[in-house]
Amino acid sequence: MHELGITRNIVSIVEEAAKGRRVTRVTLDVGQLSGVMPEAILFCFDIVAKGTLLDGAKLDINSIAGRGRCRACGRAFETSTLFEPCGCGSRSIERLAGEELKIRNMEIEEAA
Ligand SMILES: [Zn+2]
Repeated sequence: MHELGITRNIVSIVEEAAKGRRVTRVTLDVGQLSGVMPEAILFCFDIVAKGTLLDGAKLDINSIAGRGRCRACGRAFETSTLFEPCGCGSRSIERLAGEELKIRNMEIEEAA
Protein backbone atom coordinates (compact mmCIF):
# COMPACT_ATOMS: atom_id res chain seq x y z
CA MET A 1 0.00 0.00 0.00
CA HIS A 2 1.23 3.45 -1.01
CA GLU A 3 0.18 4.99 2.30
CA LEU A 4 2.17 2.48 4.33
CA GLY A 5 5.43 3.84 2.91
CA ILE A 6 4.30 7.42 3.47
CA THR A 7 3.33 6.66 7.06
CA ARG A 8 6.71 5.00 7.70
CA ASN A 9 8.36 8.10 6.34
CA ILE A 10 6.34 10.41 8.58
CA VAL A 11 7.01 8.30 11.67
CA SER A 12 10.75 8.24 11.01
CA ILE A 13 10.92 12.02 10.44
CA VAL A 14 9.01 12.69 13.67
CA GLU A 15 11.08 10.17 15.61
CA GLU A 16 14.27 11.83 14.50
CA ALA A 17 12.96 15.27 15.48
CA ALA A 18 11.81 13.98 18.89
CA LYS A 19 15.39 13.02 19.82
CA GLY A 20 14.43 10.22 22.18
CA ARG A 21 11.45 11.95 23.79
CA ARG A 22 7.97 10.49 23.55
CA VAL A 23 5.60 11.99 21.01
CA THR A 24 2.00 12.42 22.14
CA ARG A 25 0.40 13.98 19.07
CA VAL A 26 1.18 14.54 15.42
CA THR A 27 -0.75 16.78 13.05
CA LEU A 28 -0.48 16.33 9.30
CA ASP A 29 -1.59 18.50 6.42
CA VAL A 30 -2.93 16.33 3.65
CA GLY A 31 -4.12 17.97 0.47
CA GLN A 32 -7.15 16.54 -1.29
CA LEU A 33 -5.17 16.52 -4.53
CA SER A 34 -2.13 14.77 -3.02
CA GLY A 35 -3.47 11.36 -3.97
CA VAL A 36 -3.15 10.23 -0.37
CA MET A 37 -6.10 8.79 1.54
CA PRO A 38 -6.26 10.17 5.10
CA GLU A 39 -8.16 7.08 6.29
CA ALA A 40 -5.36 4.86 5.02
CA ILE A 41 -2.73 6.94 6.84
CA LEU A 42 -4.77 6.73 10.05
CA PHE A 43 -5.10 3.01 9.56
CA CYS A 44 -1.35 2.52 9.03
CA PHE A 45 -0.24 4.92 11.75
CA ASP A 46 -0.97 2.77 14.80
CA ILE A 47 0.75 -0.21 13.19
CA VAL A 48 3.83 1.73 12.10
CA ALA A 49 4.06 3.70 15.37
CA LYS A 50 4.07 0.57 17.51
CA GLY A 51 7.35 0.22 19.36
CA THR A 52 8.58 3.68 18.30
CA LEU A 53 8.60 7.00 20.18
CA LEU A 54 5.20 7.60 18.59
CA ASP A 55 3.61 4.52 20.12
CA GLY A 56 0.18 5.60 21.41
CA ALA A 57 0.44 9.09 19.90
CA LYS A 58 -2.66 10.66 18.49
CA LEU A 59 -2.67 11.45 14.79
CA ASP A 60 -4.69 14.39 13.52
CA ILE A 61 -5.13 14.91 9.82
CA ASN A 62 -5.88 18.36 8.56
CA SER A 63 -7.46 18.02 5.15
CA ILE A 64 -6.56 20.82 2.73
CA ALA A 65 -9.12 21.48 0.01
CA GLY A 66 -7.91 21.49 -3.55
CA ARG A 67 -7.87 24.90 -5.23
CA GLY A 68 -7.17 25.74 -8.80
CA ARG A 69 -7.14 28.82 -10.99
CA CYS A 70 -8.25 28.90 -14.56
CA ARG A 71 -5.51 30.15 -16.86
CA ALA A 72 -8.10 31.32 -19.40
CA CYS A 73 -10.45 33.46 -17.29
CA GLY A 74 -8.51 33.75 -14.02
CA ARG A 75 -11.28 32.40 -11.82
CA ALA A 76 -10.10 30.56 -8.69
CA PHE A 77 -12.24 27.73 -7.37
CA GLU A 78 -12.24 24.70 -5.13
CA THR A 79 -11.81 21.41 -6.86
CA SER A 80 -11.34 17.84 -5.75
CA THR A 81 -9.86 16.81 -9.06
CA LEU A 82 -7.49 18.46 -11.49
CA PHE A 83 -9.45 17.22 -14.44
CA GLU A 84 -12.55 19.22 -13.81
CA PRO A 85 -12.93 22.02 -16.37
CA CYS A 86 -13.58 25.62 -15.37
CA GLY A 87 -17.07 27.07 -15.84
CA CYS A 88 -15.78 28.92 -18.91
CA GLY A 89 -14.94 25.58 -20.52
CA SER A 90 -11.17 25.83 -20.20
CA ARG A 91 -9.29 22.77 -18.99
CA SER A 92 -6.09 24.66 -18.34
CA ILE A 93 -6.13 24.82 -14.54
CA GLU A 94 -3.23 25.97 -12.42
CA ARG A 95 -2.93 24.26 -9.02
CA LEU A 96 -3.00 26.64 -6.07
CA ALA A 97 -3.43 24.26 -3.16
CA GLY A 98 -4.27 20.70 -2.33
CA GLU A 99 -1.05 18.83 -3.03
CA GLU A 100 0.32 19.27 0.48
CA LEU A 101 1.62 16.35 2.44
CA LYS A 102 3.52 17.59 5.43
CA ILE A 103 3.92 17.45 9.16
CA ARG A 104 2.32 20.56 10.56
CA ASN A 105 2.91 20.02 14.22
CA MET A 106 4.07 17.53 16.81
CA GLU A 107 3.65 17.48 20.58
CA ILE A 108 6.32 16.00 22.74
CA GLU A 109 5.93 14.78 26.30
CA GLU A 110 7.59 17.09 28.80
CA ALA A 111 10.50 15.54 30.60
CA ALA A 112 9.41 14.59 34.14
ZN1 LIG B 1 -12.17 29.75 -16.77
